[in-house]
Amino acid sequence: MDGLMMRDGLLIGSILRRAETLFGSKEVVSRRGDGSIVRTTWGEVGRRTRKLMTALKSMGVQPGDRVATFAWNSQRHLELYFAVPMIGAVLHTINIRLPREQIVYIINHAQDRMLFVDKSLACLFAELQEAGSIPSIERFVIIDELAPPAPALPRPALPRSALDYEALIEPASVFEGEPVFDEETASGLCYTSATTGDPKGVLYSHRSTVLHAMGNCMVDGAAMCEREIALPVVPMFHVNAWGMPYSCAMVGAKLVLPGSGFVGQPLAELLEAEKVTCTAGVPTVWTLLYQHLQEKTYDLSHLKTILVGGAAASRTLIENYKRDFGITVIHAWGMTETSPMGTVSRLRSESEGWSQERKLEALLCQGLPVPGVEVRILDEHDRDLPWDGQSPGELLVRGPWIAREYYNNPAATAAFQPEGWFRTGDVAVIDPFGYVRLTDRKKDLIKRKGEWISSVDMENAAVAHPGVLEAAVVARPDAVCDEVPVCLVVKKEPQASVTADDILALLAQRFAKWQLPRPEDILFVESLPKTSVGKLDKKRIRSTMIQPGAAAVPGTPRTPSA
Ligand code: ADP
Repeated sequence: MDGLMMRDGLLIGSILRRAETLFGSKEVVSRRGDGSIVRTTWGEVGRRTRKLMTALKSMGVQPGDRVATFAWNSQRHLELYFAVPMIGAVLHTINIRLPREQIVYIINHAQDRMLFVDKSLACLFAELQEAGSIPSIERFVIIDELAPPAPALPRPALPRSALDYEALIEPASVFEGEPVFDEETASGLCYTSATTGDPKGVLYSHRSTVLHAMGNCMVDGAAMCEREIALPVVPMFHVNAWGMPYSCAMVGAKLVLPGSGFVGQPLAELLEAEKVTCTAGVPTVWTLLYQHLQEKTYDLSHLKTILVGGAAASRTLIENYKRDFGITVIHAWGMTETSPMGTVSRLRSESEGWSQERKLEALLCQGLPVPGVEVRILDEHDRDLPWDGQSPGELLVRGPWIAREYYNNPAATAAFQPEGWFRTGDVAVIDPFGYVRLTDRKKDLIKRKGEWISSVDMENAAVAHPGVLEAAVVARPDAVCDEVPVCLVVKKEPQASVTADDILALLAQRFAKWQLPRPEDILFVESLPKTSVGKLDKKRIRSTMIQPGAAAVPGTPRTPSA
């Protein structure tokens, strides 16, 4: 028997309509490349979005066409987030930090027809156009977000016959009505950042995007609500800025877009000036911000929540922000394939009776699956493992905003089995309360004489040293043990007195003796390479930093007097 409720599909247009109707005067603030601030409202964003819809239509963009963006977090990027899917086309946000050959690969794989690009980033496409490397792109549109002043540099070359974004919008009329289509229609395309092979396309739908935004607004999700002033540091070219542009519009929260200014000083200034209450990004951003906050004082009394994901948040990070600024760091897990919100770590009511240490351990977990997402862990024979907090297995997820296939990539899709679940490639334990704790990525685990060592746990233990800024643990092939752990350490300051013995002593508190690195495998390095989305690039570390002759300095064993 059919239910008798209305059949209104879940369409992205409904999100914008709510922002315009109820919160038309609430602010959307953008920081441009030169540091200037542009203030507008959700009402104005809506009006311009509807003009952009007309412009896109008049340029011949058809339902299903891929329209790419190559841009920082800005108001115009936000308008594209709505206008492209609202005419039934697919917004393909390209990660600007990918290597050139991967950018070419994904544009050709996606067969993008148009590309909207920030002026400061456009010269790459002038070259690619000249070389005939991206033939599917018929039109380039330049978004002029004013680059930082650099008078000494020559004017960057622009692609031939590129159009100007404002010139496109200005004469266009406001689109009449709103096309209605099936909620399963594709709305966005995002490629994984290829830490695990070639980039793979994840094709979001209107339905998955709207449900994910609702999940974001749940109190046990990201708790987005109208009263928040939100600043997504996570780029709009990476998994839809974790859905924040859509969830902020859905509830009418003030949205602050930082452009390219998302480190240290520009970020701190914007957080202070706009009285931001919640922000989100990868751990590196918050480690760097914390360092800056040690040097200069800002009034961050409005900032209550930092959502951290993309890589593991350390105990130090969570403790530092709480102790020094009263800011709660909320740890979350997800991936491009999960839209990305999968788990969020919040304390359950049972935690009332827990010790501070036990609470912190729960907060350090990647968290509970958010409503809508289900999880399980499997052993190497695909048998379900118990939720005892001790049995590590591959994490599988399912839910309405989890990918069921990769875009045009049957070989990669085969990895999705068993039916109806997505294999994440992450290794996790789940405790009896349902808290998921990632112990590693499958490919990053270290296998010593057949026994596993978690690189993530070892990194977290090493960064607990007050003189350590960051640490990476990777496997080195070994004739006797198969693999042994190598721990690369970046000191907070070059003079910081941290020795290999200090690190080993710390690790020995949490690891068995056989799991510890050899003293000569604790290497002090100046910095660690990061991927395009700011995570440790373990592929590069393994291939360039732990080989004989690499730039690392073995840790100085402690002398008796030290
Ligand atoms: P890619 O898979 O190309 O690296 P993603 O940005 O989608 O791109 O990365 C998803 C991966 O990031 C997850 O599979 C997981 O390994 C890691 N990750 C995400 N959030 C966390 C977290 N809170 N703690 C540890 N690892 C995380």
